[in-house]
Amino acid sequence: MKIGVIGGGAAGYFSAIHASGKGNKVTIFEKSPKLLSKVKVSGGGRCNVTHRPLEISKLVKNYPRGEKFLKKVFRHFKCEDTIDWFESRSVPLKIEADGRVFPCSDDSQSIIDALQLEASKLKIEVKASTGIKEVQLNGDSYLLISDKGEFLVDALIIAGGGYPKVEGYAFMSNLKHKIISPIPSLFTFNTPQEPIKKLMGISMPDSHVKIEGTKLNYQGPLLITHWGVSGPAVLKLSAFGAAWLFEKKYQAKAIINWNGDFNEQKYLDHLVQYAKSHPNRKVSNYALFEIPTRLWEYLCDKSEIDLNQTFNSLSKKQINKLVQNLFCHILSVNGKTTFKEEFVTAGGISIEEVNPETMESIFHPNLYFAGEVLNIDGITGGFNFQAAWSTGYLAGKSSVKITI
Ligand SMILES: Cc1cc2nc3c(=O)[nH]c(=O)nc-3n(C[C@H](O)[C@H](O)[C@H](O)COP(=O)(O)OP(=O)(O)OC[C@H]3O[C@@H](n4cnc5c(N)ncnc54)[C@H](O)[C@@H]3O)c2cc1C
Repeated sequence: MKIGVIGGGAAGYFSAIHASGKGNKVTIFEKSPKLLSKVKVSGGGRCNVTHRPLEISKLVKNYPRGEKFLKKVFRHFKCEDTIDWFESRSVPLKIEADGRVFPCSDDSQSIIDALQLEASKLKIEVKASTGIKEVQLNGDSYLLISDKGEFLVDALIIAGGGYPKVEGYAFMSNLKHKIISPIPSLFTFNTPQEPIKKLMGISMPDSHVKIEGTKLNYQGPLLITHWGVSGPAVLKLSAFGAAWLFEKKYQAKAIINWNGDFNEQKYLDHLVQYAKSHPNRKVSNYALFEIPTRLWEYLCDKSEIDLNQTFNSLSKKQINKLVQNLFCHILSVNGKTTFKEEFVTAGGISIEEVNPETMESIFHPNLYFAGEVLNIDGITGGFNFQAAWSTGYLAGKSSVKITI
């Protein structure tokens, strides 16, 4: 039986590997001359290959799109399976403190080598520089049209990745699958009007950020950059709020509580208490709430506090203003910047038309989808590759069962 895989990325390779055996002939068609090119650049060249093992119910919470669908998929192949798969192929992995998993070599080439070695052992044919221009239904099989000729396959796995524009999906238009229009996910916020940019480089370990007018809010590290704000709390917001922010043309108000351990009342009580215990201390010399000095001075300035003032000289109004700036500091967001370490597209093939137990199309037998081509995306931390490995594994294995 002939199995065709469109796309020579993470999901394409993993599907092809798991579709091999039992006398099947598996061919990967890749439009570019380079294979696994996103793996190469991923994680800043280190490849954050998955995340630390988590219970499935917790793992799926890291996917703004695809949570329910992946609950079923991960029952077949999850983070620990990815770790086992690479480690049993001589790629030792390490888990970093924040849960991200990297090869011990800190080099994405280790991941590429393992995939390519496995593919060559299984005699998978790889046709690079062979873009599929059209997929035609041909009875129970699929005809792939490319500049390099036509290929007839008994089963087809589409793993072409995400496309920034809906036109990218045109080559599969004969399949009549619903496409959710692509929009960016995982980006940082631009705040061009805000003087806070001058504090670039300052980070807070556990800030709480929310978007005014929505229920979107996340807590985690926050980084001030020369164009706005970044860090896991912002990236998570950008992913879960991707559709809302897109609709608002990336104009929003971000409300920041600099230290997520404190609420409004706690800030106030602590400040009042501190002023009582240390009345003569200069405000500028004693940054509170684990706030870096430069940011503390900035917040005091915004609260109309003279840096020479002592704590006991603060007026009620100044204290209240400071509490507001600590607890709900409003930043005007105007635009976004791509997070280059790991950017993904939301949108793609609607998962309502794909069986999560097999990755098979609900319309066409022996047609499967895997990876970012689907309307599934995760936040930063190795979750996107995990979705590619899991859906690839399932699509590959399912295609074998059906073609036996
Ligand atoms: C810079 C960067 C860093 C990243 N870092 C990480 C990370 O560290 N951890 C993480 O989890 N995620 C990361 N991601 C996201 C992750 O790379 C993707 O989610 C993942 O690569 C998706 O795999 P895929 O195989 O579905 O798609 P892709 O890797 O995009 O592969 C699809 C392939 O299909 C080919 N193709 C498309 N159409 C056709 C066609 N018609 N005919 C033939 N071939 C076709 C494409 O050329 C491409 O090679 C990163 C993304 C970027 C851009």
